Amino acid sequence: MTKVQFKAESKRLLEMMINSIYSQKEVFLRELISNASDAIDKIYYKALTDDSLNFDKDSYYIKVDADKENRTLRIIDTGIGMTKEELENNLGTIAKSGSLAFKNENELKDGHDIIGQFGVGFYAAFMAADVVTVISKALGSEEAYKWESEGADGYTIEPSEKAEVGTEVILKIKENTEDENYDEFLDEYRLKAIIKKYSDFIRYPIKMDVTET
Ligand code: ADP
Ligand code: MG
Repeated sequence: MTKVQFKAESKRLLEMMINSIYSQKEVFLRELISNASDAIDKIYYKALTDDSLNFDKDSYYIKVDADKENRTLRIIDTGIGMTKEELENNLGTIAKSGSLAFKNENELKDGHDIIGQFGVGFYAAFMAADVVTVISKALGSEEAYKWESEGADGYTIEPSEKAEVGTEVILKIKENTEDENYDEFLDEYRLKAIIKKYSDFIRYPIKMDVTET
């Protein structure tokens, strides 16, 4: 007999998954900052074994940038970036962890700082945003790509421009509803408090920039 693969309503599955894993919306920021930190760590670990790479700790950072007027929140890192294929594989496949693969490929055992492993944290962004855009330029690549999605019904990838190696995740923050407040994710003090609460242990600097209206 032939075995038939289950079909899945991926948009509903994604919503159920996100809402069952995360009790609070604000943790999306922890997930994106941990991905940014992992991306910088990957350069760090590569530099340990590759003499042509020089890891100067001062040039690596994470930046959180809120723009109230445009309702965008950007999480920028100077990490290893993603190629077009990595954008497809790591962000286009739910529960696919590029970080777990990286740890295995590089035989990183205990004592490393890479946080990612389940391959779902990124999608927490959809708790706060209607549109998520990722612009990335991979280490060693001249090209940048833009990945964009409004949720599990799909994504687009197209060539883009980016000066520096690294990744920029841009969230189009949802409009407030009667029961839910999203404006808080554009507020400097609230963002600082969320970062302090969940990302205090991150060993790279987290800079912040808020543009008021
Ligand atoms: P996890 O962190 O558990 O691996 P995520 O869903 O948070 O899962 O992210 C999926 C994968 O996407 C990561 O493993 C990584 O390969 C890639 N990724 C996500 N964010 C970034 C980033 N800022 N820079 C580079 N790669 C990233
Ligand atoms: Mg993660």
